[in-house]
Amino acid sequence: MAEADTGDEADRLELDDDGWRERLTDEQYRILRQRGTEPPFTGRHHRTKVAGTYRCAGCGNPLFRSEAKYESGSGWPSFFRPTDPDRLRNRTDHSDSMVRTEVLCARCDGHLGHVFEDGPAPTGLRYCVNSASLDLDPDGDEDVAPDGSAGPAEIN
Ligand SMILES: [Zn+2]
Repeated sequence: MAEADTGDEADRLELDDDGWRERLTDEQYRILRQRGTEPPFTGRHHRTKVAGTYRCAGCGNPLFRSEAKYESGSGWPSFFRPTDPDRLRNRTDHSDSMVRTEVLCARCDGHLGHVFEDGPAPTGLRYCVNSASLDLDPDGDEDVAPDGSAGPAEIN
């Protein structure tokens, strides 16, 4: 591992391919690591209105808050603002004969979706994110161990 990381990079999560396959479900791996897209209206979060924090499904980075989520009609979870722009990274995406702005998690480089400039006020942005890239952490769950890094909690 490189030791010359800058302060901003200290928090990064980098795994090799086997590590990601072990950590993620097949669907999450396909989307986060292979820049896939789930079919619209199929994800678990596009209609969710639960108050909480949407974390990167790859590394737990708190990317979006429910207050910034809105119904865009696209069939994917849509947000007009991230919790902190520094937690995201943008990259120009020329795939599928379009020029779009891809949005990645700044901590693990996981593919989240794309950002478009047709969103609502106050930002005018629409972060169009795959449900599979997000884990919802509902408010009021502070009793859950903060180191719950082993994956989603089992519901008994
Ligand atoms: Zn991440």
